[in-house]
Amino acid sequence: MAIERTFSIIKPDAVAAGNAGHVLQLLIDGGLRPVAMRMMHLTTAQAEGFYAVHRERPFFKDLVKFMTSGPVIVQVLEGENAIAKNRELMGATDSRKAAAGTIRQKYGTDIERNAAHGSDAPDTAKYEIGFFFSGSELATLG
Ligand code: ADP
Ligand code: MG
Repeated sequence: MAIERTFSIIKPDAVAAGNAGHVLQLLIDGGLRPVAMRMMHLTTAQAEGFYAVHRERPFFKDLVKFMTSGPVIVQVLEGENAIAKNRELMGATDSRKAAAGTIRQKYGTDIERNAAHGSDAPDTAKYEIGFFFSGSELATLG
């Protein structure tokens, strides 16, 4: 296994509900360490750009509205197999179908309001990290 970096968002629903710390702890307990982190309120342009791959989907408008509804925490996580590990810790996209104990099952509501985002592959992780962070903002962990 290799040490990887992945991109993560604690979404507006989890932040608004006061669950950001709980989500972060599950990620850390799962072996992922933040190397960069920022709280921000996404603009419509930022949310549309970030989710551009979904722009033809029927849920795109609602997704952008949700993602701009309140502050989020954007972060870069590092660890063994970080990309797959993060997806495993989050659980299925639909919080109602996510496995017990996963972030989305515990802190999300449905297929839209699902508490967390995680990159799905090395190329998207690289793109998403670069979308929000410059190289000098990434910490080096010992
Ligand atoms: P994931 O976040 O698990 O990678 P997708 O990339 O398919 O899932 O979708 C991106 C985000 O769009 C989801 O996390 C969720 O917030 C929202 N979403 C996905 N599918 C739907 C849907 N059918 N209806 C409403 N929102 C959706
Ligand atoms: Mg996705």
